[in-house]
This record gives sequence, structure tokens and C-alpha cells, in this order.
Amino acid sequence: MPQQQKDTETIKLISQLANYEKQLKILEQKVLGERLVREIAKQIHQSRSLDYILHGAVDQLREFFLVNRVIIYRFKADWTSIVVAESVADNYCALDDTDLIPRQFISQYLDSFCQEEFVPNNSIIRQQTNKLANHLIIPIHKESELWGILVADNYNEKRFWEAWEVELLEDVSIHLGIALNQNELYRELEVANQELQELVFKDELTQLNNRRYFDEIILKEWKRAIREKQPISVIICDVDYFKQYNDTYGHQAGDYCLQKVAQCLALSCQRPTDVVCRYGGEEFMILLPNTESSGAIYVAGQIRSRLRQCKIPHQKSQVSQYVSLTFGVASCIPKVNQDYQTLLKIADDALFAGKKQGRDRIILAKEV
Ligand code: GH3
Ligand code: MG
Ligand code: MG
Repeated sequence: MPQQQKDTETIKLISQLANYEKQLKILEQKVLGERLVREIAKQIHQSRSLDYILHGAVDQLREFFLVNRVIIYRFKADWTSIVVAESVADNYCALDDTDLIPRQFISQYLDSFCQEEFVPNNSIIRQQTNKLANHLIIPIHKESELWGILVADNYNEKRFWEAWEVELLEDVSIHLGIALNQNELYRELEVANQELQELVFKDELTQLNNRRYFDEIILKEWKRAIREKQPISVIICDVDYFKQYNDTYGHQAGDYCLQKVAQCLALSCQRPTDVVCRYGGEEFMILLPNTESSGAIYVAGQIRSRLRQCKIPHQKSQVSQYVSLTFGVASCIPKVNQDYQTLLKIADDALFAGKKQGRDRIILAKEV
């Protein structure tokens, strides 16, 4: 083979080899890209925090694309935008919500977004493919609505965006859309759970906690008091001559009276850990963690004088001209193996004693 032909062949081979190497590099990058999308999808499956997902995604994308920043903007109803997640290289400052990119994007594409036949991922993104550009903008959809945009921004240096890179960002955007939906479902579930909790644990008439709630909370507080060797108190109180009240003023007035009593109870229990419950018909239970008998007596006294100030007339009461309560108070520092029922029992006995002694009074039970 003549030398010249040999040289030509060699040059051809070298260029072929360079081409293979280039393709191999792209292939490697694509594999890494697919791994990245899988990683982001996995985070979406594993995390309930949208914030964590979005911040994780922008950090990983910036690292992968080696760009200055990756931002997620969310559009508001008036098409202004807010930055919800941003990953930015060390020597660049963070953007604010008035940045130009979303505005450019919106003014250029808003019309087409509003058209029904618009297929976002084809018409917009393809225009950005295989082009030298500073940034790449990918819409994020929540179901069929345009929710925001994902921007990979190389700031002051144009960069060539390969078709596969655009596809990768589109894939990430689809996964983020799924995360948005998932987040909304979680929130709806949380609200539904909250409402259910309220139904299960609230007394409808007085809006206080109900007996079911008390049974759950006392168990927890009792165990805590044992662990921390702290006192715990309960107050049981019952409206005096309430049957007569109903008979005199009617059942509806009776309901209203119970609501007033409930208000006095709630207003007199100030600590966030205090628990006030409607325990039965016209009987109420108060749990006072970390409270000694003197504190519990004080709280009962507060309730009693607050109710007195309400001056709810009760003609048929044999103890007062107004609606009154009798209180049974019990306190202890619970010991291991001791049951909280013991405390409830002595409080109930004290209440019974108070009724027997004439009503409208506070009786402190003897120590357990
Ligand atoms: P005592 O002073 O000994 O506690 O007498 P009392 O009449 O208050 O007690 P009793 O147990 O004889 O009567 C309780 C009354 O409370 C009877 C019941 O109709 C009434 N009651 C219970 N729950 C409600 C309610 O939700 N609304 C109304 N209006 N009345 C209720
Ligand atoms: Mg009663
Ligand atoms: Mg009763």
C-alpha cells in the first residue's frame, strides 16, 4: 500500500476512533442520566416532603449538567412566579422571584398554553433542542395544568443542549408532576384524618374532648408521670340537680347550660397539657399532668367561681339559686404497677362524698 493511502487510512481510523469515543462518552452520560431519573423517582416514592424532593432534584440536576444553577419556579394564578427550589454554584448569588426567565417564558408561550390542542412537551421543548443557549426551560405539569417550570441555567455562557439531555429533563419534570399530585393527596389525607380525629375525640355539644380521648390521654400521661416521678391530678365534676334543671327549663336550655359550664372549665385550665373532657351527660373530667393536689384544688376553685359569676339561674336547686358543680379531686405520684383507675376511683368517691355532704363544694380525696 502506498504511503499516501496508508496515511489516509490512518487518519480515517483515528477519526472513527474519536467518534466512537465520543459516542461512548454520550452513552455513559445517558446511563448516568437514567440513573439520576431513577434516583429522583425513588426519592419521590420514599419521601413525603415535597420540599425535600424539589431541593434534592435541583441539586442533583445541577451536579449532573454542570450548569451554574437549576431552579424550579411555581406560577401563581396571575402568572407571576415564585422560586420554590434553587441550586446554585458557589460563586453565584440566589435569584429572586422577579427573575426574567419565567417572564420570558410566559410571554412567549402563554398563548399556546391556553390553547387546548397545545402539546407542551413537543412544541416548546423541541425549539430548544440542539441549540446553543444559556438555559433550558421545561414546563412542569400537575395533571394537565401548567404548574411551573424547571430551568437549567448556564447563566453567562451558552451551552449546547443535546436532545437526550432535554428528554432527561422532561422525564424529571414528569416525575416532579407526580410528586406534586402525591403531595396534594397526602395533604387531603391529612385533612381528612384531622377531621376524623375531631369526630372521634370531640364532644359535639360542648366541643370539649370526649371520654374516648380522655381514656387515651390518661394512659399516656400516667406512664409519663411514672417515668418522670411527677404528680398527676384529676378533677371530676358534676352539675348539681341537673335533672331538675332540665325538668324546669327544658332540655334545650339544659344543653345550653352544659355549654356554658364547658366554657368555664376550658377557660380555667390554662396549661397546654391540661385536658378537659365531657365524661358523660353532665359530668366532666379534667386531667392535670405535673400538678399536685394544691394546684388541682386551685383549678377547681377557679372553675367554681367562674361558674358562679355566670349566674345561671336554677330555681329548683336545693343548694344555690344558680347552677353549681360538685368536685372530686385526686392526686398522686404514681408508682410502677399502679393503675390509673385507682386514681379515678378515689376522685369519683370524693365527688360522691361531696354530693352527700350537700353539693356545690370541692372534696379532696385521700392519698392513694
Ligand atoms: P346530682 O346533683 O346528684 O348530680 O343530681 P342530678 O339531677 O344532676 O343527677 P341525675 O343523674 O339524677 O341527672 C342527670 C341529668 O342530666 C339527667 C339527664 O337528663 C341530664 N342530662 C344528661 N346529659 C344531658 C344532655 O346532654 N343534655 C341535657 N339537656 N341534659 C342531659
Ligand atoms: Mg348531676
Ligand atoms: Mg351525673
